[in-house]
Amino acid sequence: MTPFHIFATLAAFFFTINGFSHMDPEWNFSEEEWKKRLTPEEYHILREKGTEAPFSSNYASLKEEGVYHCAACNASLFDSSDKFDSGTGWPSYTKPLKEEHVTYVEDHKLGVARTEVLCARCGSHLGHVFEDGPNPTRMRYCINSTSLDFEKEK
Ligand SMILES: [Zn+2]
Repeated sequence: MTPFHIFATLAAFFFTINGFSHMDPEWNFSEEEWKKRLTPEEYHILREKGTEAPFSSNYASLKEEGVYHCAACNASLFDSSDKFDSGTGWPSYTKPLKEEHVTYVEDHKLGVARTEVLCARCGSHLGHVFEDGPNPTRMRYCINSTSLDFEKEK
């Protein structure tokens, strides 16, 4: 193992635990660039890790078949077949479309440990995941509608 390999291994580990293991360099914009690409509301949620008011969009109750994409980079994130009505006012899913499309990071902002969910491609904030969901996974991905763009199945 060369010093570079050791460095690369350590760097990969560091980025993995920080939730940016797969982040695409093409989507690694500066915050100034993100501000130009997103609406102020999108910027607040996606880049400043904001939370929208519950029941503030129709994605929470949307039952149409299709795929929910990242509102920042358009990566496919969640499928309507994994969506359930959690009653929380935020769109909720039992799992991501593909596990490698999201990353996780511990969040202690409210004084309790929560797991933040991020888009793996662009590192934008999506929401949080909780271990109180229904079958089959018992997980509840609680996602901001503002972080998502729904594409109806054709
Ligand atoms: Zn994204």
